[in-house]
Amino acid sequence: MSDVIEITAMTKIYEIGDIKVEALRGVTFTIQRGEYVAIMGPSGSGKSTLMNLIGCLDKPTSGLYRLDGVDVEALADDQLAALRLRKLGFVFQGFNLLARTSAVRNVGLPLFYAGDRDRDAKAAAMLKLVGLGDRLDHRPNELSGGQQQRVAIARALVNDPALLLADEPTGNLDSITAEELMALFARVNEQGRTIIMVTHDENVARHARRIIRLRDGLIVSDDQVAGRVASPM
Ligand code: ADP
Repeated sequence: MSDVIEITAMTKIYEIGDIKVEALRGVTFTIQRGEYVAIMGPSGSGKSTLMNLIGCLDKPTSGLYRLDGVDVEALADDQLAALRLRKLGFVFQGFNLLARTSAVRNVGLPLFYAGDRDRDAKAAAMLKLVGLGDRLDHRPNELSGGQQQRVAIARALVNDPALLLADEPTGNLDSITAEELMALFARVNEQGRTIIMVTHDENVARHARRIIRLRDGLIVSDDQVAGRVASPM
């Protein structure tokens, strides 16, 4: 298997005036194609910082980051933006859908930026994959929270990214809807897609195959999940 992510001795220091906050103090790990990884840790342990760096939304203070074979620190901002569009799909807690725009157009947005003419057909196919084939023309306010999150997942996957990044994807969902979403993530992962998700919820994390735990900006454990929750297929 090839590495999708190779992170070596990565640090991130935020400076506010004279105060320095060491959010990451040297983390090293690799993630291979097809893995499904949960990142956990107490508040302030560096999870969001790490996700922002993995997502190329910020740059590390030191260390190496290779994403799908590309050395990220060597890239200029416009190259980074292009890399993000090509390689990464993002799912956020707040869904981040355009309110006045139909499901199919929301999902097609990354294809629009990429100049893809088949965007409506591809977006519709992706909505069918997440079980929303009968909701193509609905706007976000005409969909439940779980359905909105599935639209967001379809949008994240429509570019066929090397990596799906999810930040507290179940944060705004009730427990039953969260379970459905985890079943969808399992299916997406079984199809060979690589997933990294941040969660504070142990029940959610047990759906992943591997859990990386952070504390005070360092990795304190990195284990395969024993007794992983079997997902209904
Ligand atoms: P988590 O996501 O695990 O709660 P964060 O990565 O958000 O942790 O934060 C790690 C540490 O870095 C915390 O001490 C936080 O206060 C600090 N921090 C995060 N973002 C910033 C920022 N933009 N500027 C300054 N300090 C930050």
